[in-house]
Amino acid sequence: METTANRLETIRNRVDAAARLSGRDPADVVLIAVSKTFPAENVADALEAGCRIFGENRVQEAEAKWPPLRNVYDDVELHLIGPLQSNKAETAAATFDVIHSLDRPKLAETLARLRDMGTPPPRLFIQVNIGDEPQKSGVELQDAATFIQTCRDRLELPVVGLMCIPPAGEPPSPYFALLAKIARDEGLAGLSMGMSADFEMAIGLGATHIRLGEAVFGARG
Ligand SMILES: *Cc1c(COP(=O)(O)O)cnc(C)c1O
Repeated sequence: METTANRLETIRNRVDAAARLSGRDPADVVLIAVSKTFPAENVADALEAGCRIFGENRVQEAEAKWPPLRNVYDDVELHLIGPLQSNKAETAAATFDVIHSLDRPKLAETLARLRDMGTPPPRLFIQVNIGDEPQKSGVELQDAATFIQTCRDRLELPVVGLMCIPPAGEPPSPYFALLAKIARDEGLAGLSMGMSADFEMAIGLGATHIRLGEAVFGARG
């Protein structure tokens, strides 16, 4: 039977190969094991296998799942990859080390206000609605540059990069390339892009953070 440890080893080999193929150092690609919907026992297997960087898409689920695990593994780094409501920003800032879904002025202003009141913001990726899809989260493409500058320069938030989820059912590479171009134009080093189905392509186009759920934990039930 395939175990989480086996799957992680396979992923690491694939990450190494994809990075080398594009002349990159595999150490520059951070694997985020997306544990949303998976119970603590699956997460424990990944921790046992050496994983320390995890992604969750809901604040409440992370709050319920992670404190006991973090009591045992105090070097875990937790990433929020799902949408964040402003009224949950304080809890999120306390729970997560990195937030990938900063996507609107109200949330940016809330994080800046919390910082001014003593809650340091996590490192932040700005999510870009890279396919200009009406239903999708993320700052609109046409507003991306202004929003990046507002967050980083006016509000002085710790923006480390950009994140995207390309439109479903289309080849993702043009979208990855576009996100990389916006990051380059704005002088941002981090690129959170690539999931289980397309992470090698994302690495080829510069991903620094790949977010893998099913590739690590197996199919969601
Ligand atoms: C669920 C999720 C992932 C991981 O998806 P897989 O297909 O399981 O790899 C990555 N990014 C985001 C934003 C997600 O919500």
